[in-house]
Amino acid sequence: MAGPRGRPARVNARGGPDLPGRVGGVGYAGRVEEVRLAERLIAHDTSHPAGLAVAMDFVAGWLESRGTDLIRRDLGDREVLIARAGEGPVRVIFNGHLDVVPGYPAQFRPRISGDHLIGRGAYDMKAALGAMMIATSNLAARSPVGVQVELVIVPDEERTQAGPNATEMLVGQGLRADVVVCGEPTDMQVGVQAKGVMILDVVVEGRAAHGSTPWLGDNAIIRALEVYRRLESLPFTRASTPMFARPSVNLGCIEGGDAVNKVPDRCRMQVDVRYLPGQDPEEILHQARDVGAASVEVGISRPPADTDPAHPLVSALVECASRHDASSASVGRDGASDAVAFLQVGVPAVEFGPRGAGHHGPDEYVDIPSLLAYRRVLEEFAAAAGALAPTVARLRGDGARA
Ligand SMILES: [Zn+2]
Repeated sequence: MAGPRGRPARVNARGGPDLPGRVGGVGYAGRVEEVRLAERLIAHDTSHPAGLAVAMDFVAGWLESRGTDLIRRDLGDREVLIARAGEGPVRVIFNGHLDVVPGYPAQFRPRISGDHLIGRGAYDMKAALGAMMIATSNLAARSPVGVQVELVIVPDEERTQAGPNATEMLVGQGLRADVVVCGEPTDMQVGVQAKGVMILDVVVEGRAAHGSTPWLGDNAIIRALEVYRRLESLPFTRASTPMFARPSVNLGCIEGGDAVNKVPDRCRMQVDVRYLPGQDPEEILHQARDVGAASVEVGISRPPADTDPAHPLVSALVECASRHDASSASVGRDGASDAVAFLQVGVPAVEFGPRGAGHHGPDEYVDIPSLLAYRRVLEEFAAAAGALAPTVARLRGDGARA
C-alpha cells in the first residue's frame, strides 16, 4: 500500500490508512478541519427558518474568509449560496442542503465517539456539506485546470410543502453543469438511480350504522385496510431492476370514524409509493384506481432518478471514490433528492456522500475516516473532470446533434 508520493501509508488497527487526527485511536476533537466544520454546522438548528438564516450567514462568512468567490442569490422567501472555484470548460456542481429534519436539543450538540461524529445532520448532510466547502475553497486556492466547480448550497431539500424547492428554482432559472454531485448520504457509493415518489390520497367509503348493530353497516376503516392490502400487492409492486429488488408501498397516514358508537362510513389514507426507474406512473395510478376505493388522487410526486453509470464524468467519480473506499460502485438509492431537478433537464446528477447511519433518526452519525476520504475524493474528482475536457466537449457536441 503506497501513501502520497509513494511513501508507505501508516496502517491503523482496522487495517485502513492512518488519518490525520486519528493517531493510535486518540480522538479527533479540535484536530481535523473536516470535523471542526461539521461540528459547527451541526450546532446550528437548521430545522427552522431562524436557525437556517443564522447558519447561512455562518457558511457565507466561512467561504468569504477563505477567499472563495461567493454569490448570495435571493429567491424571494429564501436564499441560496453559490461559491465558485476555478475556470474551465468542464462545469461541475457540488450540491448541498443546509436544512435538517427536526431533532432533540441534544442532537444539536455534536459529540465524537470512536470514529463517529454524532448529531442531527451529521450524515444527512452537514458533514458532507462542510467537506464540500473545504474542497471548494481548496480548489479555489489551487485553480485546477480545465474545470469550474460551483458549490450550490440550498436551504430547503427536506421540506415537504408543495411548490418548487430552491434547487428546482435555480434549474428553472437556467443553472446547468456537465455533472452534479449531491452530497446525500450514500456510504461512499455513487447513486446513479433513485426511486420515484408518488403519494396517493385514497378515500374509502362504507355505510354508517349504530355501533351496537355493526352488521347493518359497512365499516370504512376495515374496508380501507382491505383496499390497502390490494394496493400493496398490485402487479406494479412485483417489478425489479438490476439496481432495485422492488418498489415500495407504505401506509403513512390513516383517518376515519367520528364516534366510537358508530360504524364509520368514510376513511382516508395517504400511501407513499416509491417506484422504479422505467415504471410508468400513469400505469401505477391506473392499477391503484382499480382496488375498490371511492377515489385515488396523486399528491406530491417526483420522477425517478436515472443517470447513465457509463457517463465519463460519473465513472470518473466512481474511480476516484474507489481509490479511497474499495467498495465504491454505482448503486440505486431508495430515497429521492435534488439530483432529480437536474436530471429533468438532461444534466447527469448523482448522489455521493460519506459513510454513516441513522439519518432522520435519533442516533445519526457520520464515519470520520470516510468523511476525510470524501473531501479528498471531491478534490481529486474535480481534477479528473478537468482532464476530461475534450471528452466532455465531444459529449456536448453529440448532445447538440441529437
Ligand atoms: Zn439529505
